[in-house]
Amino acid sequence: MPEPIVWLVLLLPIAAASGWWARARAERDLDKHNRISRTVSRDYASGITHLVNDDADRAIETFSRLLAIDDDTIETHLALGNLFRRQGEIDRALRLHQNLIARPQLSLGQRNQARFELACDYLRAGVLDRAERLFDELAGEQAHAGASLTRLLGIHEQTREWNAAIDIARRIARLDEVSMDRVVAQYHCERAGDAFDAGDVTGAFAALREAERVSPSCARANLMRGRYQLSVEAYDEAIRAFRRVIVQDSRLIMEIVEPVISACRGLGDIDGLLRFFDQMLARTDAAPAHIGRAKSLYEAGRLDEAIAHLSRYLQGQANWLAFHTLLEYSAAHGRTRLNGPLDSLRQALGQIIRQAPTHACDGCGFSSRYLHWQCPSCRRWDTIRPLADIAPATTRSG
Ligand SMILES: [Zn+2]
Repeated sequence: MPEPIVWLVLLLPIAAASGWWARARAERDLDKHNRISRTVSRDYASGITHLVNDDADRAIETFSRLLAIDDDTIETHLALGNLFRRQGEIDRALRLHQNLIARPQLSLGQRNQARFELACDYLRAGVLDRAERLFDELAGEQAHAGASLTRLLGIHEQTREWNAAIDIARRIARLDEVSMDRVVAQYHCERAGDAFDAGDVTGAFAALREAERVSPSCARANLMRGRYQLSVEAYDEAIRAFRRVIVQDSRLIMEIVEPVISACRGLGDIDGLLRFFDQMLARTDAAPAHIGRAKSLYEAGRLDEAIAHLSRYLQGQANWLAFHTLLEYSAAHGRTRLNGPLDSLRQALGQIIRQAPTHACDGCGFSSRYLHWQCPSCRRWDTIRPLADIAPATTRSG
């Protein structure tokens, strides 16, 4: 057996040879890599130069060439396409994503990602039928199902295809295991509105029943039912529906004050009107309930009591809407005509009230003079409610 030192001497040439071979192979690989890297970085530099020079068409062409060299650049293409879309350069985003999809070497996952981006381009460009078709196909793919269904829902809301929206909402509920019942009830209410506008009163009531079946707490369904009953002079049914609105959501009381007065006028039942607002005050201490009570006293010809009721309320609660109603009734009162400055205040306040936002979104704070059932700002449903008072300093409105 040779000594260890002898083994070392014997093995040294072999080690040297293998080291040389490994180094040579590494250098060969490095050389190849450097050649590719040089080409890639030259093309990237050229692509970036085209971008900087605002020559996006040539930039796309250059970046597309890179794809043939290295599949990893697909991510770069997708990022670039997103950038174009975000900047409003939809044509370029479309072309880039179409080029990408045309590449035969894409994996199924990469192709679907590119198709999803293309569908987003179509959506942004307002080509809704093509966007819908692509999202519909991608909704069957696990990786894109959630995002595709959400966008499909947005498309159906935009095109007011409520039955299709209901189907998609159900699919989202199953996929995400969340309840979409409140939103589906809103879609049924929209169906009711469309039917009523088309003269199909029976269809409108059927859709409202469906809304309540899906979401029994849907106050909008009763508010709409009350308005429709009022329009066909079914006053008792209208008052019953308005009463249910307040049981479901007392914040909506401002919406029912005038319709309830109209319904009671139709019935010639002023006592019933007074009783209605007495009952409402047992449920809510909100200013519109007190204003409604004062208005019903006014309807009954009891102006002194209307003024006294509002005065008592305002002693405990500052509220511009109630204060303005008090000034209006005081101005209408024969014996207590307002003097100059107070009458100027009444007029100025009236002007502010006519312009100030009266409703606001609980979700995003968007304010408006109308009760939008879908917030125009955050697109959520059933988040806008009447304000308890006007806020003259509010600037955002719609
Ligand atoms: Zn909102």
